[in-house]
Amino acid sequence: MHSRHLSRVDCLDFALTLSNTRAVLITAGALIDGTGAAALRPGAVLIEGDRIRAVGTRVDAPADVERVEVPDGTITPGLIDCHVHLSDAGLADASVQDRDPSGLRVLRMADHARRTLLAGFTTVRDLGGRDHLEFALRRAAREGLIRTPRLVLAGKIVSMTTAGASSWPGMYRQADGVNEVIKAVREQVAAGADVIKIMATGAVLSPGHEQPSSAQFRREELKAVVETAYALGLRVAAHAHGIEGIARAVQAGVDTIEHGTHLHEDVGVAKEMAARGVFLVPTLKALARIADPEGPGVPEDMRAKAQDRRSDRDRTFRIALEIGVPIAMGTDAATPFNRHGENAEELELMVGLGMTPIAAIAASSSVAARALGRDDVGVLRAGLLADVVVWDGAPDQDIRAVQRAPRAVFLGGERIV
Ligand SMILES: [Zn+2]
Repeated sequence: MHSRHLSRVDCLDFALTLSNTRAVLITAGALIDGTGAAALRPGAVLIEGDRIRAVGTRVDAPADVERVEVPDGTITPGLIDCHVHLSDAGLADASVQDRDPSGLRVLRMADHARRTLLAGFTTVRDLGGRDHLEFALRRAAREGLIRTPRLVLAGKIVSMTTAGASSWPGMYRQADGVNEVIKAVREQVAAGADVIKIMATGAVLSPGHEQPSSAQFRREELKAVVETAYALGLRVAAHAHGIEGIARAVQAGVDTIEHGTHLHEDVGVAKEMAARGVFLVPTLKALARIADPEGPGVPEDMRAKAQDRRSDRDRTFRIALEIGVPIAMGTDAATPFNRHGENAEELELMVGLGMTPIAAIAASSSVAARALGRDDVGVLRAGLLADVVVWDGAPDQDIRAVQRAPRAVFLGGERIV
C-alpha cells in the first residue's frame, strides 16, 4: 500500500548518497537500537555508503575505516518527529508573520529544517504547511541547495469550513461534503503530498468560539477522505481533541490521531486504537507551552482552552500507555514557544507521565517510523538507511541527554554534525 509514496522519498536518498560509498565505524559507551530493547554496553555501528552495515557491542571493520569514537556517549537511530509545521516559527501569535512575503517564509522554513536536523531529528512529518511552500523546500533539498531531515509532507490541512482556517492563511483547504473532500485530498496528492492531514475536531489555536471538543467532519466525509487517500497509497493523520471526533476518525480508518486529548473519556475507543494499531501522537509540549507560555502574546481565549485540557491530556497519555495504544512522538513544533530544534523536550514530558526513557526513544524512532509507514528508518539494523545520532551521556538513564547538541548526526550515511 505504501510502496508508491515511499519510492519518491527513496529517489532523494539515492541521489544524495550516490557518490558516498566510504565506511564509518562509530563506537560509544552504549547503543540504543530504537526497538525498545535495553541499551547495549558498549555499542558500535558500521556505516557503508548510505546504509547501516552492522550493529552490535563490537563490530569488525577494516583497519583503514573512518572512526568516530565517543566512549562516554550513546548511539541511537536518528530521531523522528511525527508532527511539525516547518512553515511557522513558534511565535506566541503566529499571525504577526502572516503578511511576510513567501520568499522570506521559505527561507525561515529552511532554517527551521536545519535546526531540527542539527538537533538529531533525521525525519519529520509536516502536517500542514503554508501555500504548498514545503514542496519547494523539499525540491531545494533534493537539488542539494539546503539540508533538511527527510520530509514526509501533508500539504494543506483538509478541513470543513471553519473559523480556525482563517487563523492560519494558506494552511487549510476547506471542503464540505463528500465530493469536495475527495477533490481536496486529490489536490494535496497532485501537489506532492505523502500523507493527508484532516481536522476531525475543533482546535485550541482557533478563535474562541471554536471548541476543540466538538466534532467537525461528518462520518461520510471522513470515510471519503480515507478511501481516497488509501486508493492513492497515502496514509491519513487526523487532528482530534474531542472524543466524538476521535471515535469517528478511528472508525473511518485513519492511521494516526494527533493530540487525542479527550481519549480518556471512552476507554473503548482507546482499546479499538490498540487493537487496530492506530497511533496516538500526543504532542504534550504544544498544550504545555500554550497553557503555561514562557512569555506574553498568546491570545487569552486560546490559552484558556489549553489550560482547561491539561488534566485530560495527562489522563489520556497514562491510559493509552496502560492499554497499549501505540504512541508515536510528535511535538506540533510551531505552536507558541514550541520551537524547531527543541523537539526533544517532548521525550522528557512523556517520561514525566510514566513512559520509560527506552520506550520514549522507541516512540521517537521505530514506532514513529511505523506511524509514517516507513520500514527503512527508525531502527539501528543492518540494511536500513544510516540515520544515526551519537549523544553525550546515557539517555536511558537521563532522557534529557537528547536535549543537548548531539556529538554526531548521520543522514543516509552522510555526516551532518
Ligand atoms: Zn499541528
